[in-house]
Order: sequence, then C-alpha cells, then structure tokens
Amino acid sequence: MNKNEFINALKELNIKITPLQLEKLETYYNLLIEENKKYNLTAITKKEDVYLKHFYDSLTLNKIINLSNQYLCDIGTGAGFPGIVLKIIFPNLKITLLDSTEKKCKFLKLVISELNLNNIDIINERAEIYSKTTREKYDIVTSRAVAPLKHLLEYSISLVKVNGYYIAMKGDISKDIIGIDTYETKLGIKEESRLSFKLPKENSLRTLIKYKKMTKTSTKYPRKYTEIKKNKII
Ligand code: SAM
Repeated sequence: MNKNEFINALKELNIKITPLQLEKLETYYNLLIEENKKYNLTAITKKEDVYLKHFYDSLTLNKIINLSNQYLCDIGTGAGFPGIVLKIIFPNLKITLLDSTEKKCKFLKLVISELNLNNIDIINERAEIYSKTTREKYDIVTSRAVAPLKHLLEYSISLVKVNGYYIAMKGDISKDIIGIDTYETKLGIKEESRLSFKLPKENSLRTLIKYKKMTKTSTKYPRKYTEIKKNKII
C-alpha cells in the first residue's frame, strides 16, 4: 500500500490524516526499520507492507468503536500495534501500552520521545499480573495477534470499566470461539458486535470482536498463568 493508497483507504475508515500525522508515521517507520536491525521487532519491513499490515490494520479498530477521548490499554503491543498508530491518529486518546518484553518497551519509549507523544505510558509486565491488581480502569482494552481469545479475555477483562469494552483484533476466529459462552458468563461480558472484512490489496481475513463488560469482574480472575496456559476451562 503506497502513501496515496493509504490516505485513500483511511478516508473509507472516516479518517482524514494530516500532513503532520503522515510525517509522524514516516518517522515511526524509519525508527522501526533502524531498531529492527539491532533486535527483532517485526518480520514485516517493506514500506508498503508496513503501511498496510501494521499502520492501516491498526486503524481498522475505528470501524467498530469511537476512539475519541477514551482511555485505552493495548495488551501485548509489541512494537506499538495498534497502540502507537492509534495515538498518532487520535491524539486525544489516553493510552497504556503493555508488553512483557523489555526490548520492545525500550523501543516504545524511544518512539514516544522521538514523536513527542503525550498521555501515553508503557508498562513492562505480563498482562495477567498487571490485571490482577489493576481493575476497572480503562474504557477500552484491545490486543492484536497476542494469544487465544479465551486467554485474552481472562487477562484483560478486569482492566475494563463496567460498561466499557474489550476488542480483540483477530484473523480467523472459528477455533477461538469454541466454548466461549462459558467465558462470557463467568467474566460478566456480552458480545456486542463482530465485524469481518478483508485487508485491502492482499485480501487476508480480519475479524474484530467487541465485548461489553456488564458487571464487575470477580477477583478470582485472572487465574494463575499456569492454570490459564493448561487450557483448563474457566
Ligand atoms: N500487537 C503487536 C502486533 O500486532 O504487531 C505484537 C504482536 S506479537 C505477536 C505478541 C506480543 O505480545 C509480543 O510482543 C509479546 O511480548 C506480547 N505478549 C504475549 N503474551 C503476553 C502477556 N501475557 N502479557 C504481556 N505481553 C504479552
């Protein structure tokens, strides 16, 4: 996806990007490529691929939720997807970027400082540890390409305020949703909407699942990582 295609595709997401935001994305791209030579941040490095599979894909979250003036946590953000891209395009978002890998957090710190982003913090922690003590804090929690949906829901849901949302950014979810009803009941959430679409140009499947949090999360959740990992039902 070249720059013009990117700008036009964003119009279809109802995003009118400014020259300054484009410049910030370009700086972000250059930092990503430069730092990726020192340690592994992404396997996608060709500029047109980064614009499509990282930048555009991150912004598809706007298809399913209003991102204006929200407090959002991006679990397993890696090199900053979707969190950094969302912050560049929706500057009044307040964001927490969470990742368990120290090197990725170091990279995020560099990006935030180089791009002069404010109201954004980084937490170098495992999600299931952070969410044990941080409860009912965010309007929106999201994650892209991190773990099976059941694990993500259990890690993330206590972080969400009652009436807030957890949104999973996924590809094919047919296996992910088997047995998910029990999780919805136990975690006090309800699937509000689901959106499937194809990424422009390369046509791979994307699915956004949006859960609304109906009740406060029991302190039983999340369980210990070892229990979650064993795939023991909730
Ligand atoms: N969301 C980014 C993206 O879409 O490009 C990164 C995806 S990468 C495949 C998964 C990231 O999640 C890694 O950076 C990893 O360190 C992080 N991660 C995996 N499990 C995690 C957990 N339980 N808590 C925090 N971070 C986690």
